[in-house]
This record gives sequence, C-alpha cells and structure tokens, in this order.
Amino acid sequence: MSESQIIEADLVWTGTSFERDVRIAVNEDGVIASVGKVDGATTRRLERKALLPGFVNAHSHAFQRGLRGLGETFPKGEGSFWTWREAMYDLVERIDAEIIYELSKQAFSEMLACGITTVGEFHYLHHDQSKAGYTFDEVVLKAAADAGIRIALLNVFYKTGGIRKPLGRGQDRFATPSLEAYWDQMDMLAELIDPATQSLGVVAHSIRAVPLDDLVALHEEACKRGMVFHMHVEEQPQEIIECIEAYHKPPMALLNERLEISPFLTAVHCTHTADKDMDEFLASGGNVCICPLTEANLGDGLANVPRLLRNDGRICLGTDSNSRLCFTEEMRLLEYGQRLRLQKRGVCVDGQGNVGTKLLEMATSNGARSLGLKVGKIAKGHHADFATIDLDAAALKGWTETTLLDTLILGTGNEAIAETCVGGS
Ligand SMILES: [Zn+2]
Repeated sequence: MSESQIIEADLVWTGTSFERDVRIAVNEDGVIASVGKVDGATTRRLERKALLPGFVNAHSHAFQRGLRGLGETFPKGEGSFWTWREAMYDLVERIDAEIIYELSKQAFSEMLACGITTVGEFHYLHHDQSKAGYTFDEVVLKAAADAGIRIALLNVFYKTGGIRKPLGRGQDRFATPSLEAYWDQMDMLAELIDPATQSLGVVAHSIRAVPLDDLVALHEEACKRGMVFHMHVEEQPQEIIECIEAYHKPPMALLNERLEISPFLTAVHCTHTADKDMDEFLASGGNVCICPLTEANLGDGLANVPRLLRNDGRICLGTDSNSRLCFTEEMRLLEYGQRLRLQKRGVCVDGQGNVGTKLLEMATSNGARSLGLKVGKIAKGHHADFATIDLDAAALKGWTETTLLDTLILGTGNEAIAETCVGGS
C-alpha cells in the first residue's frame, strides 16, 4: 500500500507509440487509475525519461542463475541439452535454503535491472536436502518479495524421471508424489502469498515428468480454479520420440486431444512442434513461450516463428535458465534467429510492418496473458509496473520519437534501463 500519485515522464508508451504530455494517475493500491490529461498536480516528474510497461518474463528457473559460466567446456567433444542437464543436477544437489534464496534474489534483482517487473517462476526445486516438505516454495516467494519483483509462482507437479520411469539422480528434490499432496501445498501457498504482488499458477513439468492421467486431472483442476497452466513442450526431439513410443503421438498432439486448450494454457518452447499440431493449439487460444537466449545456449534449435505468427500466435518470452539476463536481447534474438534461419528481414512484425512494437507486445502484454495478470500495458486498471528508459543513454543517441523503440530493442543491452517500478513504487 502506498500513496496515490501522478507520474509524468517526457514520453509514455501508450500501446502503439511514444506520446508526450501524458500523465499517469496511480491509486494507493498501485493500480493505474487514469492515463492522459489527468487532473491534479504531478507528484513525480521523471526528467529525460521515457516510460514503457515493465517487461513480463513468462518463464524462469531462478536457481539456474547458479549455472552461469558453468557447463561451457566440452572435454569429451560436443555437448547437448542432456549433458547440460547433468550439470544442472550437480548444482541441485548442492543447493540448500540459503543458496536458493541468494540465487533467486540475485536473479530477480538482475531481472529488475533489465526492465522486467513480473516473473513467471516455473518452480520445480521444492525440497531441501531432507527431501521432505516444500521448504523452497516459500523461500523463492520471500526472495521475490525482498528483491521487489512481481511474481507468478508457477508451481510444478513432477512425478517421473522419464515416461513410466522412476525419478533419477537429483530429481527427488523436485518430487510431488501425488495430486492430493500438490493441491494441499497449493492451498497452503494461496494463504501465504501477498495478493498485491504475488499469484499462483499450475504446472506440469513436461510429458517426461508427469503421467498422462495425472496431467489431465491436474489441468482439469486448474481450469476449475481459474488458474493459468504452463508446461514444457517439445524442446527436444528426444522427448517427441519417447512420447510417440509411449503414447503413439507427440506431446502437443496429446495436449490437443486430451486437454481443453484455452488462453490459460502456455506451452513453453515448442521448438520442434509439427505445423498441424501447432495450428490446432493456437486456434484454441493457447500461448507459446519462447526463450531465445536459453534455447541458443542449449543448442535446442529455432521454432517456426512465421507459422506461429501467421496463426495469430500469442508468443511470449522467457529468460528460462537465466544464463544471461537482458530482455532487449531476448527480443532481438527472437527476430535475428529467424532472419538467420530464413535469410529474410522483418519476420516478427505488426500489421504496419513494425518490428519493435511486435517484439514489445511479446515482451509485455502477451506475457501478461500467459500469466493471467493485469500487467504489461500502461492503461487504466493495470498494475503500475514500468520500465524507465534513460533518454540520455549513449547507446540511444540519435533517437527520435519514432525510432526510439527500435533503437532500444535492437541497439541496447540493459544500459538504457534507468529504473523499474512495481505497483507504483
Ligand atoms: Zn524451462
């Protein structure tokens, strides 16, 4: 809870362009009350600054911040997602409550410094070394609160080490043995969270980690409760091969067949998804979260982004392994990866052919849709979450009102982000 305020900056992003003489009234709950020519005196003047809606990071594993710089030597020759996963499990075995708190707070603080005001934390490392209780769920929420970031804790159901396989090394720290235990924990967390800045979502880790019947039941209950649902889908060809062996269909085809797809459902990665399965998923309103820097680091491959966009696909962005935290770079790499793949320029564009506005939409309002939150827009009724741009930043030099967004996204790292604001403060 804070004082109501009227914020004024040199420029404000109002959805399709930067505008001057726009003031923002924020109520004592940290929610935008009006935008435009509001009555009353300005209480906070941001000189030489432009305001964007804060970026929405729809997919993160904060503890993986501890892997930065690790797993990047290859004495036995080339590596893969699966060799990286072994390094991740080594880290998991070392983590106690203090370490996960520090890693999470570090990751969340770095996110704020790059303009991210909301994180969808896909949280599967639940247990400390005792492997009992869900100690780390609360620790991650505390780290987010202490860093000052808005969090949707996307709490993960994780039961098998592969389709019909027992949990393996490290994976017992992720285990949710039954749906009953999972929902008991969710009920406890619902009591614990601060509703002003924290929310919950439901996750099936992947088709590898959740038996199909449990997946269907988990999703049904999430729908009944009106909660968003996320899942890793088809990041690696191996997952598709194993799923076809077990269930005679790829994961996305199974989701289309067995779940009621809606805007509440987000499939993360979809790097290797077949066109017809993707078309069906998008036609039912599903979201796709792409994590360009992590997918590049892991050598996953490139999703068929033009196909997604042709279907009016709601692509959002995630920082996933947090090996680098820079949201302008995530946006840029999404576009540049496709330019390299297709030998074409201007793949992610809006109806007028603008790259910047399309990428910003993915980084803000599409992420908000995926997390089911009123964020990602500077508009009445939305949380007052902003990224503040330093108009005197050297990397922006030469900007005009019409080029500022493209200059920021294509030409800067985090150096032009002056500060962030979550819920008006
Ligand atoms: Zn992930």
